[in-house]
Amino acid sequence: MNQLFVVGIGPGAYEKMTLEAQQVLQTCDVIAGYTVYADLIRPHFPEKEYLTTGMKQEQERCRMALEAAAAGKKTAVVCSGDAGVYGMAGILMEMGEDYPDVEVRAVAGVTAALSGSALLGAAVGHDFAVISLSDLLTPWELIEKRLDCAAMADLVICLYNPSSKKRKDYLKRACDIVLRHQGPDTVCGYVKNIGREGEQCAILPLAKLADVETDMFTTVFIGNSQTRKIGDQMVTPRGYQLKKDGC
Ligand code: SAH
Repeated sequence: MNQLFVVGIGPGAYEKMTLEAQQVLQTCDVIAGYTVYADLIRPHFPEKEYLTTGMKQEQERCRMALEAAAAGKKTAVVCSGDAGVYGMAGILMEMGEDYPDVEVRAVAGVTAALSGSALLGAAVGHDFAVISLSDLLTPWELIEKRLDCAAMADLVICLYNPSSKKRKDYLKRACDIVLRHQGPDTVCGYVKNIGREGEQCAILPLAKLADVETDMFTTVFIGNSQTRKIGDQMVTPRGYQLKKDGC
């Protein structure tokens, strides 16, 4: 059986990739991916054959990778973070139905909600929701409903794709929805370029979150009603009283 791996490489830095991802990439002949991610890993796997495509060419990238695998080359498609979280794992498996000789396998990676939470402190210390504000593939009404329900349920909310040039006011719209249920002092944070050049993070109240300039490499965290700022860290308690005698 020909093998095609869909590999989450984590947020960017080589050290943040799992050992399993490194080992799988090491054994592959071909690595396919969005140009930016291929460039991130190329220095560590220089001898591989690379198949790269630009943004929004996901289907083309999948097709190229499936063809390479079908031709007998051990192939990996790389995605940032985890390949299943707004990544290519699902679409590859769907398209793979047309390639019965190719077995598609996912390799988990550290998604931005987790690497970002650790940079901020312990932002997702309790139940949380991950919501993308991109309405390219999801109608805005559904995004709005999910935001409303998540805020009502007092979940910590991680926002992916918080805005782009065409969607400048989406973060503000999301904040307005959360403000229906959560107070203006709710502790929030954002992280930019995790594990990459220009890494940056900040903590601020919900009332000020809408003014943050976000881009396509920003992940936003909205705390729950219990989230606190401890020193310079955003911490969501696990929900039980702190015991002084250990965990
Ligand atoms: N599969 C990726 C998510 C892809 S969707 C994952 O699991 O992390 C793209 C969104 O992910 C971005 O808009 C941003 O919100 C988030 N993201 C991905 N990489 C990031 C990084 N290095 N730093 C901050 N946010 C990141």
